[in-house]
Amino acid sequence: MLAKKRVSLDKQPGNSYKKPHKSPFCEKLTRFQEFYDGFLSRVEYRNPYMRIIDPTATPSVVKNGKKMIMLGSNNYLGLSNHPLVKEEAKKAIDVYGTGACSSRICAGSTSLHYKLENELAEYKGTESALLFPTGYMTMMGTISGLLDENDIVLSDQLNHASIIDGIRLSKAQTRIYEHNDMKSLEESLKTCPSDVNKLIVTDGIFSIKGDIANLPEIKSLAEKYGAFVMVDDAHGSGIMGEKGKGTLEHFHMEGQIDLVCCTFSKVFGALGGFVGAKKEIINFLRFNSRPFLFTASPPPSVMSTVLACLRVMKNHPELLQKLRKNVKYLRENLKNLKFRLFPTETPIIPIIIGEEEKTFRMSIELEEEGVYVNPIIPPGVSAESSLIRVSVMATLSQKDLDTALDKFKLVGKRLRII
Ligand code: PMP
Repeated sequence: MLAKKRVSLDKQPGNSYKKPHKSPFCEKLTRFQEFYDGFLSRVEYRNPYMRIIDPTATPSVVKNGKKMIMLGSNNYLGLSNHPLVKEEAKKAIDVYGTGACSSRICAGSTSLHYKLENELAEYKGTESALLFPTGYMTMMGTISGLLDENDIVLSDQLNHASIIDGIRLSKAQTRIYEHNDMKSLEESLKTCPSDVNKLIVTDGIFSIKGDIANLPEIKSLAEKYGAFVMVDDAHGSGIMGEKGKGTLEHFHMEGQIDLVCCTFSKVFGALGGFVGAKKEIINFLRFNSRPFLFTASPPPSVMSTVLACLRVMKNHPELLQKLRKNVKYLRENLKNLKFRLFPTETPIIPIIIGEEEKTFRMSIELEEEGVYVNPIIPPGVSAESSLIRVSVMATLSQKDLDTALDKFKLVGKRLRII
């Protein structure tokens, strides 16, 4: 758009508009616009990203007055719309107002913030916990707060961008190991000097492929080579383990990992995040993590929301059972339809399509048939594994699942994917 506008202004007679200064920044904008126009023409000017839907995180959503079944939200237990959760959020607004309006360190720490930190530490089996305004800032603030250029970080190839950006901010030396490959991790560990601080960082559940990190092996390699371990359990919390406490509970490893991080933007139906760790680590981060220190405290209503979610998760185990039932049903039936799936046990079901354009087309055609899914293409995945990311909610009914499966079959056959 920018580039086109400039050309037309340039052509107007007597226009005093000067040709833009050809800085690398201008060129970057032009290059992006060309790429974007090409992308839109390939998908017939229907952009599958940032579509307007209302509301976003409920089982059935609306676009342009048309109802759709939501298979693209991370609101896995449906808690963002749970009556108790909404009620508690409203009550906090009545008492505390809409925002904390200061950083935690200055005037932004309410009793709700400390109450939640205590409950989250208990939930994750850590000594202490620290809140951040987003999950992204949790990973970034934890890594950059702890590490500096003298340290080494070993990071899974498919870790979330918030981890990658935390490493960049920390300036630590980086070793990327192949995805969930313990031989590759050990090879990397062998290259690290023994007297340097080492941190192994991994997602608990990988956000695109939905697979589970090999935490028992990671832990034993960490012990062998004297490294710390950090797990980003954004997608495992509330989902994995008998009580839904996360990927550590799934492996019976609670209390055995140095740093456990999580976001509130998935199962907790809100926005924010936290890190759980030993008291000394949390205290260090309080005064050394810039993404904690130099930003505003998350609103008290978010604290109440997450406190209520913890209560609902504890008192209503049937929600997690329903989620697991829905996941099993959808995954098995997609497999029966002969879609290619990455093997997962989680509510993230990736359908491998392979070609970018076909992936867009599938998501657009599914939308036209009333099913909302997310297309994932490079750089989210490698070129040959473009995929449709299906995410499942406990609040989807049997009828929703059956209707969605019929539509997958219809579109899959039409596009010759199955
Ligand atoms: N880690 C992982 C694994 C994620 O999937 C996400 C969100 N996509 C984040 C961190 C960032 O969390 P938030 O969106 O809550 O900032």
